[in-house]
Amino acid sequence: DGENSSQKPQLNGKFTEKHFRDGDLARRKLIQQQRKSLPIASVERRIVEEVRKNDTLIIVGETGSGKTTQLPQFLFNGGFCLDGKVIGVTQPRRVAAVTVAKRVAEECGVQLGHKVGYSIRFEDVTSSSTRIKFMTDGLLLREALLDPLLSKYSVIIVDEAHERTVHTDVLLGLLKGVQIARSRSTIQQTNLNKLKPGGETSDKKDEFLSTSSLKPCQGEKVSPLKVIIMSASLDARGFSEFFGGARAVHIQGRQYPVDIFYTFQAEPDYLDAALITIFQIHGEEGPGDILVFLTGQEEIESLERLVQEKVKQLPEASQKIFTVPIYSALPSDQQMQVFKPAPPGSRKVILATNIAETSVTIPGIRYVVDPGLVKARSYNPVTGMESLIIIPTSKAQALQRSGRAGREGPGKCFRLYAETEFGKLMDATVPEIKRCNLSNVVLQLKALGVDDVLGFDFMEKPSRMAILKSLEQLLVLGALTDDYKLSDPVGRQMARLPLDPIYAKSLIVASEFHCLEEMLITVAMLSVESIFYVPKEKQEEARAARKSFASLEGDHITLVNVFRASTECLEKSKKANMKEKSIEKSLNKWCWENFINSRSLRHARDVHSQIQGHVQQMGLLVSSCGDDMLQFRRCLAASFFLNAALKQPDGSYRALASSQMVQIHPSSVLFRAKPECIIFNELVRTNHNYIRNITRIDPLWLPELAPQYYAAQN
Ligand code: ADP
Ligand code: MG
Repeated sequence: DGENSSQKPQLNGKFTEKHFRDGDLARRKLIQQQRKSLPIASVERRIVEEVRKNDTLIIVGETGSGKTTQLPQFLFNGGFCLDGKVIGVTQPRRVAAVTVAKRVAEECGVQLGHKVGYSIRFEDVTSSSTRIKFMTDGLLLREALLDPLLSKYSVIIVDEAHERTVHTDVLLGLLKGVQIARSRSTIQQTNLNKLKPGGETSDKKDEFLSTSSLKPCQGEKVSPLKVIIMSASLDARGFSEFFGGARAVHIQGRQYPVDIFYTFQAEPDYLDAALITIFQIHGEEGPGDILVFLTGQEEIESLERLVQEKVKQLPEASQKIFTVPIYSALPSDQQMQVFKPAPPGSRKVILATNIAETSVTIPGIRYVVDPGLVKARSYNPVTGMESLIIIPTSKAQALQRSGRAGREGPGKCFRLYAETEFGKLMDATVPEIKRCNLSNVVLQLKALGVDDVLGFDFMEKPSRMAILKSLEQLLVLGALTDDYKLSDPVGRQMARLPLDPIYAKSLIVASEFHCLEEMLITVAMLSVESIFYVPKEKQEEARAARKSFASLEGDHITLVNVFRASTECLEKSKKANMKEKSIEKSLNKWCWENFINSRSLRHARDVHSQIQGHVQQMGLLVSSCGDDMLQFRRCLAASFFLNAALKQPDGSYRALASSQMVQIHPSSVLFRAKPECIIFNELVRTNHNYIRNITRIDPLWLPELAPQYYAAQN
């Protein structure tokens, strides 16, 4: 079946494709069949034609219609990768970038990392032969730092644009500028090449040229950039207007009816309600997999355990039910598990964050369980504090979620809230750029040479207050000079590190304090959700296990202790000349015995080696403070001074920067000790304002180590 071979452009032998072996022929046939049956397959020619005709195109199509997996292949076959140019596809989520890249590589019959690859923060699986590159939107922004015209790309597909993540929004503004700059460069080229009358450049464009200030790199030949915005939301107006009335095409989806069920009243414990619903479906409904929407890793893992326990209590004949988790920090070798079909006669229960809402489409789902909640960033521009909160979904999200049940046949969606509540939901989610700390964005823009951040061409402008607040934050972090220009080297170095500015700065500070080794571990461990594993039935044992790592100084040093203990375990295995597999096994065993979440630990170890690579490249000095934890705590204070808090007479804390009242989260090792003065890393709002990841500091260190912030106030 040489489906593509006849149309495949010649690539001068720049890369080799690994074709499927005979044994895989059946699977390959099946995949080709699946591809041909997708709604988008029938409009391949039309879409390629539209892309040829329009520099900017908006493609709207229901989730599962084949946008993400098929369009890049259509364009590749349509000749958009000639001259070694690359088709870039951005995703708001890491997991989506990875799983979709794997799928497309398989569909093309090539090894991942060759023709098809992906690149996400801390993981690059591409090569010089990569022509279809999936990546996170944040990663492309980072690439723009090194290559402002994004010159290696012929097409950028901004996927999942309806999600309106902060990176997507910034990217849209940036791409608009790149398009203008690149088309100008082409015109200039054309002008130089054909200085004869009747050339193709119009007067209008020439006029534009002479009035604008953006300059393309001299002498470099760059062709115009095609920008394609893909969205699952039917409303393309906003995108179209932003791109000067860009054309939108709609792809007819295929959606079967989905029956919606509500609970009679609000459910006090939605995890419990979800558990009951799963087993009700399993007991009473026909075949088909179940998709459950949860808010995060911790919740997914606890429901996973509850389901597994309950399965054991079922009579053996009806036990055919198993769980697969999917969330962004899931190690990548486990991410593809959700796509594996359930064995005949059994039922798969997928426990997912809202990643399964539109980003990844999992076949086989007939039932959706939706508690109606999502974890979101929330920002208070007055205090400058960002926090994670669990909020009700929007109506649009609820509809997307229920739609997952009707992809392959009629389905059912169980909303774990009362019908009257649905009417109260917001129509659509507020774009993230309006509810997050903008320090990261502002730093990136500054590094991209956009000095007037307030004047940047945002699709939706964040509040002036929020921008000013982040400028102020970057100033006290030393990333900006007094006249709000990017500082060199500190600001430039911070922008290069793929971390939030406050963490990027902490690494730079740590190299000066000679405890970068400890800080690297800390930052890596802070980047994962839950290192400690506390099963409900073994809370005492888990607590005892944690004690062996606990530091009286706080959570940061405790995390360093865990990481180092795991390193010791790994080194022992390596010394015993164990094979890779056995090393892995013994680490898992160690995690199990010590009540450590092995998935999270592995993720943190990955992140650690990646950031270590970055700081080494930057030439920072990686040294350890040894046993001198006083030094490390001083470094933590110097790094996280913006998040310092003082104890109040009633045992709660006042955050110094915002005057907000907060409480130590029960999971902190300092929950009982309640020291006078602390720094913290995370604010979680539930029924309380909880802070997490806390270290005891001396209040006098603040004016000493952060005089730019504290001296003026005292
Ligand atoms: P869209 O982007 O329009 O939502 P996709 O291109 O992501 O659609 O998905 C198209 C089809 O490919 C879906 O039916 C989905 O089930 C299938 N698919 C995507 N990834 C995989 C995978 N890893 N394994 C099996 N099927 C997949
Ligand atoms: Mg998609």
